[in-house]
Formats: sequence, C-alpha cells, structure tokens
Amino acid sequence: MTFAILRSNCPICQETHHDNYCRTNNDIYLCRGCHGDRAHGFDFVKMTDNLIWGIYVQNNRNKQKREFKARSATVDNKVPDFNAYKAFEASKTLNAIHKNKLIKRGVTDFTPYFSHTIKSDYPFASISGMYIKCLGYQDVTLGYQIAPDSKQLPKYLWASKDGSARIKGEMPVQLAKGENKDIVILCEGILKPCVARDRQQYTFIGAAGGNWVSSKKLIHKMLNAIAPKQIYIAPDANSLNNDSIWLNIQKASQEFNANILDWGQLEDKQAPDIDELPNFVLQL
Ligand SMILES: [Zn+2]
Repeated sequence: MTFAILRSNCPICQETHHDNYCRTNNDIYLCRGCHGDRAHGFDFVKMTDNLIWGIYVQNNRNKQKREFKARSATVDNKVPDFNAYKAFEASKTLNAIHKNKLIKRGVTDFTPYFSHTIKSDYPFASISGMYIKCLGYQDVTLGYQIAPDSKQLPKYLWASKDGSARIKGEMPVQLAKGENKDIVILCEGILKPCVARDRQQYTFIGAAGGNWVSSKKLIHKMLNAIAPKQIYIAPDANSLNNDSIWLNIQKASQEFNANILDWGQLEDKQAPDIDELPNFVLQL
C-alpha cells in the first residue's frame, strides 16, 4: 500500500509545520502528529507497529469498510532502535528546562523522565526533547513518549520495539503506581497519570487520547496483577461534549467495569483535569 505525502494541511493534526510527515492514500490517513488523539471528522484506528504513525479514517461514509482496510494497511517503516533509547536512558539526566516544566505541573517523582537528543530513524536529523518512559506492572519499559523541544516537530513521538513488553498492535500505556492500589483510575495521556499519582497517591493508568480500549489486553494484564477493589475513569474537562472521546469513555467503562467520575468537569471546559485537582478523596 503506497501513501502520498500530504503537501497541504493535514486534516488530522491540522498543523502546517509538519505536514510533510503526514500521508494519505485518500482512504486512509497516516498522521505523525496524532497518535490516538481526538480529530474532528476522523476516527483513530490504531498505531502502526513501529508507533510512528497514527492510522485514521474519515468517520462519515463507508466507515466500516475503511476501518477494515486501515487495520490491514501495511506501511513500510523502520522501527526506531529501542536499544539505543535503553542505552542513553542509563544516563538518566533531566535538564533544568524540562525539570522546571514538570515541577510546575506538580511532579515530585522524576523517575520516568529524562532529557536527551537522539539521532533517530525518524526522518529528522535528531530529536531533542523530554522522554517519558511508559511503565508496565513490574516496572518494565513498554516504550517512550517523546515531547520534542522543536516546534517544527509533532507534539509527541513514540519509540518502542517488538520484543519490549508491549503487546503487538497495542499502544503503550502508562501505569503510575501510587500508595493506594485499591483504587485504579483511568485517565488520558502518558504524563497526566504520573502527575495525578504524585498529587493523589491513587494508582493511575493513562492512555493517549483516552484510547484505553485500544490497549485492552495490556490494561487487563495490569488490572489482574494489581487486583484493585474499584476502577474509575477520570475524563478530562468537557469530555461529554466530544463525541469520539465520550464513546471511548463509555467503551472503557464497559470493558473494565469502571465508574465514570464527575467533579463538574464533564461539561465544563474551564474545570480542572484529574492532575490539577489537589485534594481528591474517593471512598470505596
Ligand atoms: Zn497529521
């Protein structure tokens, strides 16, 4: 299957500065900037195995046919070298700019984060940025989410490789273990669960774009190992007004038998997300 480089604005990430990295064959869109994020008019299908592209289809007509084609799409791409990431992770440095950003968000445990520049297999010379390790249950590394420093690059990139603990076809998720393991809370994102854990000490599982169900095997494995007494979902502000995210939340609620939390944020854009709530008390 061949994909042409999008020379005009990518309709998924809508940003002009990295359009040359997004591709389409008209039916299927490969977006470098969005990896399960919400995109108006499009549905996220899955990531490519090398985690470089988010595969999207338009959510209007022939949706099922498109989704089927997108699932079986073969994309010829090199897998970023996971071993290279492992090697430099050993240095465990976090530069002052990245560290200050994390402190501002309320992070107190800096274990999953490090700063680095890597010469990469991506079509960029190098990627400088903050690397966030995605941890699995026994502190195994599932992959890395990279927030590049350059505004010329997508907001997030991913690195992982078969042979890591990641389940084939599933995105890495972030398990942030808190002191309280009786309550597990599903939230959006890879950094957010770590921040929320540092503030509230519950155990959090984060998935990019709230696509928990796209990583259901992995999440079930984690939940089986933790055996919590109660599972909750903490939707971001205004989630009820976003059809695709609300569908993800409902699917996850069913799949993981999880109650949906509402602190007034469901329909209020201005309300805080779970990682911005300082004192959040849940009772079993
Ligand atoms: Zn794009």
